[in-house]
Amino acid sequence: MTGYVEQPARRIPVLSRFDTVIVGGGIGGVAAALAAARTGASVGLVEKAVALGGLATLGHVVLYMHLCDGRGRQVVGGIGEELMRLSVADGFGDVPPAWKEGGCLADRAADRLHTVFNPAFYALALEEVLLNAGVRLYFDARFCDVAKDAAGAIDAVIIESKSGRQALRCRTVIDASGDADVCAAAGEPTESLDTNGWAAWFYTCDGRSLELHKHHAPFDRFGGPVAGRKGYRGDDLESVTRHLVDSREQVRRRLADLRAGGGATPFVAMIPQLPDLRMTRRLVGVYELTRADDRRAFDDGIGLIGDWREAGPVWSIPFRSLRAAATPNLLAVGRCLSADRTVWDATRVIPACAVTGQAAGTAAALAVAGADGRFDRLDAAALCGRLRADGAMLDVSPA
Ligand SMILES: Cc1cc2nc3c(=O)[nH]c(=O)nc-3n(C[C@H](O)[C@H](O)[C@H](O)COP(=O)(O)OP(=O)(O)OC[C@H]3O[C@@H](n4cnc5c(N)ncnc54)[C@H](O)[C@@H]3O)c2cc1C
Repeated sequence: MTGYVEQPARRIPVLSRFDTVIVGGGIGGVAAALAAARTGASVGLVEKAVALGGLATLGHVVLYMHLCDGRGRQVVGGIGEELMRLSVADGFGDVPPAWKEGGCLADRAADRLHTVFNPAFYALALEEVLLNAGVRLYFDARFCDVAKDAAGAIDAVIIESKSGRQALRCRTVIDASGDADVCAAAGEPTESLDTNGWAAWFYTCDGRSLELHKHHAPFDRFGGPVAGRKGYRGDDLESVTRHLVDSREQVRRRLADLRAGGGATPFVAMIPQLPDLRMTRRLVGVYELTRADDRRAFDDGIGLIGDWREAGPVWSIPFRSLRAAATPNLLAVGRCLSADRTVWDATRVIPACAVTGQAAGTAAALAVAGADGRFDRLDAAALCGRLRADGAMLDVSPA
């Protein structure tokens, strides 16, 4: 820091009003927008990049991880399953044969329910689905602040785009930024990790076909780098820039290795358009999910997730782990919901983002309709009933 620049107070024009404003158009934000719009809310979605899907598309993370518990039982339905099927609707990939009609439990345990998809098709498909649902999209627009009312609720989200600074008035807000940007701006407690490793996921083309290369720093069981390795926070200018530069250096090195290896000369075709950071900053919410909550049933459980790292664990996610403690109309989903270090690595993957997004979007629409936009006044039983009716799986069975 080398000093400060003073700016005069300024009036920010209000661009539009929505029942819910969603910040971030990754899988968490898309699921939230879809659920909110289908449940009757007017929805505005703000995305700083120029397409939807977040890490799943622009970050080249093309594996929609498991919708099952690793023992053959499906635990994610609803929008989580819908978005998985959409990811391969162009025929590029498919669900494993064991998960088609007639598949048996043993085969399903051996080959978990997942898909590998084409990220460009998926970004196009996600956009079409949201437009058809009536969601208003704002691309190339970065969330930068909130304005709060006297009760501590967010009454406007401030964005910055080619049009300058503008405000979106809102009754509820969903932080799907992956980095808890809204939670931090709203003054909510957050936790940051500095354990992210470099990631060089890039495509090459040999003149006929594309090939994805996945290289990343080794990480430990809980998503951090193995002992002694350099880590990146990913919630500040310096560490994001360093992560991008170091990761692209790794792309150059791997390319040089490939070219030196003989055979057909590979040309680099695509590099990630977002920093491939796993766990940056998260909300410390009303409830923090922990490893000990494995197979624990909650009265306000809004969906289930399995563990991509091993077969067996299933977490029910309590609505309270999406809720900000001091800002009554704010929820966090996807990579930035409230879970401690031991479960964060399980709650950040694509299906978990879709599960929490569906719950948050549905909750936002219900809160606007019947709870004055306040999530602390929302009837959890009504939320769970609606989610169940919309295909979400909520019941934890014994292991
Ligand atoms: C290297 C790597 C490998 C992975 N491998 C897998 C895998 O194989 N399978 C799997 O299921 N998961 C995997 N993951 C995890 C998974 O991809 C992500 O955690 C998940 O896609 C996150 O979804 P999200 O919606 O929470 O956040 P994101 O995808 O990060 O989306 C957040 C969106 O918000 C936008 N945004 C951020 N800040 C702002 C702002 N201030 N204003 C406006 N917009 C903003 C971003 O541009 C982005 O589009 C991997 C992650 C990494 C980094």
